[in-house]
Amino acid sequence: MNKEPVSRELFDEVMVPNYAPGSIIPVRGEGSRIWDQDGREFIDLQGGIAVSCLGHSHPGLIGALMEQAEKIWHLSNVMTNEPALRLAKTLCDLTFAERVFFANSGGEANEAAFKLARRYGWEHTGPEKHEIISFKNAFHGRTLFTVSVGGQAKYLEGFEPAPGGIHHADFNDLESVKKLISKAKTCAVVVEPIQGESGVVPADPEFLEGLRKLCDDNNALLIFDEVQSGVGRTGHLYAYQMYGVVPDILTSAKGLGGGFPVAAMLTTAKVAASLGIGTHGSTYGGNALACAVAQKVLDTVSQPEILKGVKARADHLRKGMMDIGKRYDVFSEVRGEGLLLGCVLTEKWKGKAKEFLNAGLDEGVMVLIAGADVIRLAPSLIIPDTDIDEALERFEAAVKRLTA
Ligand SMILES: *Cc1c(COP(=O)(O)O)cnc(C)c1O
Repeated sequence: MNKEPVSRELFDEVMVPNYAPGSIIPVRGEGSRIWDQDGREFIDLQGGIAVSCLGHSHPGLIGALMEQAEKIWHLSNVMTNEPALRLAKTLCDLTFAERVFFANSGGEANEAAFKLARRYGWEHTGPEKHEIISFKNAFHGRTLFTVSVGGQAKYLEGFEPAPGGIHHADFNDLESVKKLISKAKTCAVVVEPIQGESGVVPADPEFLEGLRKLCDDNNALLIFDEVQSGVGRTGHLYAYQMYGVVPDILTSAKGLGGGFPVAAMLTTAKVAASLGIGTHGSTYGGNALACAVAQKVLDTVSQPEILKGVKARADHLRKGMMDIGKRYDVFSEVRGEGLLLGCVLTEKWKGKAKEFLNAGLDEGVMVLIAGADVIRLAPSLIIPDTDIDEALERFEAAVKRLTA
C-alpha cells in the first residue's frame, strides 16, 4: 500500500487544476472538530458544504457502514437490495414521494429529474413540450445538462453547445416566469427553495406558491432542487415542508449520506411512470453501503428533537454572527434558514469573502463562501453549543484582525 508522505504541493503535480484547495490537509474529524496533518485543530462550520449533517465520525453512521460492509457492498441494478428498498420506503413515508430513484450526486439526481420531466412531457403531450424554466444564479450541478439549466453563465463557458429549450427567469419574480411559461412547450420549472451556491437566498413563500399555481395552470412539473436545503438543514426534513408547497419532483443529495456519496430523486407514482424499464439508470445508484448509511442519517435527522435542535442552534449561530457583523460593521444582513446561513458583506467588504475564509482558518475556524460577497455557514446539525461559542470567538478574532 502507498504510504508515502503527501503534501499540498503534490496537488498541483497530480490533480487536474479545476479546484484551488486550501493550504492544510485535514486528516481526522470528530463531531464538529477537524485536525490537519500537523495536529492543528479547527472548528468546522463548512460541514463539507452542507454534507456532514451529523458531523464527523458519528458513531451511528460508522456502525451502519461497518455493519453493511460485512454483509454486501454492491449488486448493481440487475438485483435490488435490502438497504435501498428500506431507504426508498422511508423517503416515501417521510415526504410527498411515492417513488424514488437513487443516484450518487446532486448533479446526477437533477439530471434524472430533468430527463424525467422531458420524458413526461413527451409522453403526455408531445415532443414540443420539452422546455425547462429555471432561474438566474441557480446551481444544479456540473453535468452539461445541469450547468445549462443552472443560471450562472461562467459554468457553461467553453463547454457549448448546450442542450436547448432552457429558459432563465428571475428568482423571486413571478412575472418573469409568466413571460416564459406556456402550456404547449414548458415541461418543468426547477427551483432551489433556498439558492445556496449563489449566496443563500431564500425564496419568498408567495413565489413558490405562485410557481405551484403557474405549473398547475400550464400542465408543467414543479421540481425542487433540495440538494443543499434538504435533510434537516432548515430545521425541517425538507424545505418544501416549511413552505407548505409540494413539488412533483424533489432532488436530495449532500446531507443525505452525511459524507457518503448518495442522492435521490423523489416523485409521484404518476410522474415516475414515465421512466419505464430501460429509460434511465446508474451502476452505483442504490448502492447497498450508501443506502445503509443514508438510512441511518434519515432515521436520525428526522427525529423531532434533532429538527428542533437545528432551530435552537441556528438562532444561537445567527445571533452571534449578527453581533460580530454589527461590532465590526462587516455584515449588512444574515439570511437563510436553519443551519444554512449567509452573512452578506457590507459595501466596504464586498468581493472579499475569501479573505474572511482565510482569516478564519488562521484562527482555527472553517467557514464557507457563496460567491465573493457572502460568508456561508453550513455546520453539522448537531454541533454542540459550546463549539458554536468557540467558533464565534475564533471568527470574531479573525474579523478583528482583518478589519484592524
Ligand atoms: C451542490 C448542489 C448540487 C450539485 O451536487 P453534486 O453532488 O455536487 O453534483 C446541485 N444542486 C444544488 C442546489 C446544490 O447545492
